[in-house]
Amino acid sequence: MAAPDGAQCPRALGTAGTRGWTRPSGSGAESRHCTRWLLTQPPGDSSSPAPSEVQSGIQQCSSPAPGSRAALAMAGRRALIVLAHLEKTSFNHAMAEAAASTLRDKGWDVTISDLYAMGFNPVLSRRDITGPPKDPEHFVYETEMGLAWKEGRLSSDIVAEQKKIEAADLIIFQFPLQWLGMPAILKGWFDRVIIQGFAYSMATIYEQGRFQKKKAVLSFTTSGLESMYTPRGINGDMNVFLWPMQRGMLQFCGFQVLAPQICYSVRYVTPEARAQMLSAWRRRLAAIWEEKPLGFIPNSCFELSMAGGFVLKQEVLAQQEGQPQGLTVGQHLGKAFPPDEQLKAPE
Ligand code: FAD
Repeated sequence: MAAPDGAQCPRALGTAGTRGWTRPSGSGAESRHCTRWLLTQPPGDSSSPAPSEVQSGIQQCSSPAPGSRAALAMAGRRALIVLAHLEKTSFNHAMAEAAASTLRDKGWDVTISDLYAMGFNPVLSRRDITGPPKDPEHFVYETEMGLAWKEGRLSSDIVAEQKKIEAADLIIFQFPLQWLGMPAILKGWFDRVIIQGFAYSMATIYEQGRFQKKKAVLSFTTSGLESMYTPRGINGDMNVFLWPMQRGMLQFCGFQVLAPQICYSVRYVTPEARAQMLSAWRRRLAAIWEEKPLGFIPNSCFELSMAGGFVLKQEVLAQQEGQPQGLTVGQHLGKAFPPDEQLKAPE
C-alpha cells in the first residue's frame, strides 16, 4: 500500500488537538489527507452544517426547508436499510419503517434488506463461491472470495446484496445491540458480502476505501440504560464498543461514518419516550445527508508498509507528547480517550 504522494501529517492543537489538526505547511492536493482529517469527507461536501448534538442518546436535527440546497441534495439519492430483527412488531422494525417513510417523503429511493425475513444465511461456507476453489486442500475464505468476485463466481445471494450496496448513497444498519455488538445475522452479512476485492484491498483501505463517497450510520437499540454505557457505567464506555464496528468495519471500507443513532433501554422507557425516539430519528433523517462524518486519523499519518508496521509516524507521536488525551479510541497512546469521539462528529 502506498502513502499518498507527498502527504504530510498535521500538527496537533493544544488540548483540543486530540480532536483537530491544523493545516500542514503544504497546500492543495499534497496536504488534502491531513488538512481536515477528522471530517474525512470528499471534496464538495465541505458546506455541511454543524453536526447535531447527541442528547440522551437521541440525535437532534431540524429538517431542511423545502427547495433549500439541503432538501435538493437529498432528492434522488438512494438509501439501503439493512435490518436485523426477527420480530415485525419490534421497536427496531418501527425505527426501520420510520427511516424508510421519512426518506421516501424526501425523495429518496429506499431499499430494505430485512435479513430475517429474507432468511439471509450468515454462515460462511465453500458454497459461497461457484466453480472449483483455487485451493481445495486449504480453503482460505477471503482469498477464494476475492477471486470469485473478480471472476463473477460468487453465490447469487451475495451478489444481490452487493448490488444494493453499490446503488446506495446511504446505508442504515438497524439492529438491537447483542452482546455489546451487532446480531450474528448482521455480522454474517458483513462477513459474506463486504469481501476483499468488492469492498477493500490492501491498496484501498480506510479513507481511501472503495465506498468513500457513501455514508453509513449505525442505528441500534439497547436494553441497558445510557448511564451503563458511560466510562464509569457497569457495561463500560459505548465508544469502545462502537470502535470495531465504525472504524474496523465501516470506515475500513471507506464509508463516511455518521454519528450513531442509539435508543437506550427501549423496553423500559415510557411509551412517550419511545415516541420521542422515533420522532427524533425522523427529524434527523430529514437532513441526514448534510451531516458531517465522524473523524478518523488519515492513512498518511501512519507508516504504510510492512517494514514500517502501519503505526503512527514518529512526527505524529512527537506532536502528541504532553497532550492529556489520546487521539482516538483505537490510537489512545495509553491516555484517556477523547470524550464521545465515536458518538459525535467533530465540531
Ligand atoms: P421491543 O421489545 O420490540 O420493543 C420495545 C418496546 O417498544 C415494546 O414495548 C414495544 O411494544 C414498543 N414498540 C414497538 N413498536 C413501537 C412503536 N412503533 N412505537 C412505540 N413503541 C413501540 N442489550 C444490551 O443493552 N446489551 C447487550 O449486550 C445485549 N445483548 C443481547 C444479546 C442477545 C442475544 C439478546 C437477544 C438481547 C440482548 N440485549 C442486549 C437486549 C437487546 O438489545 C434489546 O432486547 C433490544 O435492543 C430491544 O429492542 P427491540 O426492538 O427488540 O425492542
